[in-house]
Amino acid sequence: MQKKWIDLHIHTNASDGLLSPEEVVKIAKECRLSAMSITDHDAIGGFVEAKEKALELGIELVSGVELSVAYKGDDFHLLAYLIDYENPEFQKKINSFRDERFVRGEKMVEKLNELGIDLRLDTVKAIAGDGSVGRPHLADALLKEEFVHTYDEAFARYLGYHAPAYVAKTYLAPQEAIDLIHLVRGVAVFAHPGTSRSQQAIYDFVEMGLDGIEAYHSQHDRNATTHYINLAKKLGLIYTGGSDCHGRRKGKILIGTVKVPYRCLEMLKKVKEENY
Ligand code: AMP
Ligand code: FE
Ligand code: FE
Ligand code: ZN
Repeated sequence: MQKKWIDLHIHTNASDGLLSPEEVVKIAKECRLSAMSITDHDAIGGFVEAKEKALELGIELVSGVELSVAYKGDDFHLLAYLIDYENPEFQKKINSFRDERFVRGEKMVEKLNELGIDLRLDTVKAIAGDGSVGRPHLADALLKEEFVHTYDEAFARYLGYHAPAYVAKTYLAPQEAIDLIHLVRGVAVFAHPGTSRSQQAIYDFVEMGLDGIEAYHSQHDRNATTHYINLAKKLGLIYTGGSDCHGRRKGKILIGTVKVPYRCLEMLKKVKEENY
């Protein structure tokens, strides 16, 4: 039997990706993926918009969202899968994150203005569109208005963690995020742990109810992937994976470039079935 591949980590322009929901579905289909998940930061609109196209093209689309959590001075991302996204409490939370991201974007523009960078909020708004506002939109705006020469320079000089125009997001505590995911009968997965400074966080989140680890990821090499698969097994967790494609902002479109077996989706479904 031919092997089935999936990509469970894709961003659209509903958050800080560059491609539309329809476009990512088309590309995933062209890559002959059997299933995919749209996991926008603090936004579910991209997934909802993509459903029709996925149905039309015959690709299995799994609901998802990527949440940011703060823990012991670091930030981490949690992926939520197979969620009851229509739950009103969940919708309210997600909408409040989106609103807060917009206000944060305004604050970063103000900070830039104070630094003598005359970036206009309208430019950021035009780039973000309906998307949940993130630093990539500000970086694109700075580039468009020619305040920087490259996307990376925007982060290095202004938007990076220790740079002068940086404003922190409102973060959930990991326990809050995991509880929210479970409230909507979803599966909570630790995103791209290979990029995290603290590995202890994985163990701590397990105590809080974490269900899985993202083992396959565009920033994990083969060793890292094997390591996280083994760690997941050791901890009694499932493992998942995806490309974390944000479109062609830096380099190429990553959809389908990370080989994730369909079995990962089966494990997700099994956890959902067992837990709810
Ligand atoms: P935000 O959620 O608004 O804080 O934006 C985070 C996103 O910005 C990440 O997902 C990356 O895509 C991008 N990003 C963060 N730091 C950097 C950096 N130093 N260089 C380039 N992109 C970055
Ligand atoms: Fe992102
Ligand atoms: Fe992430
Ligand atoms: Zn992501």
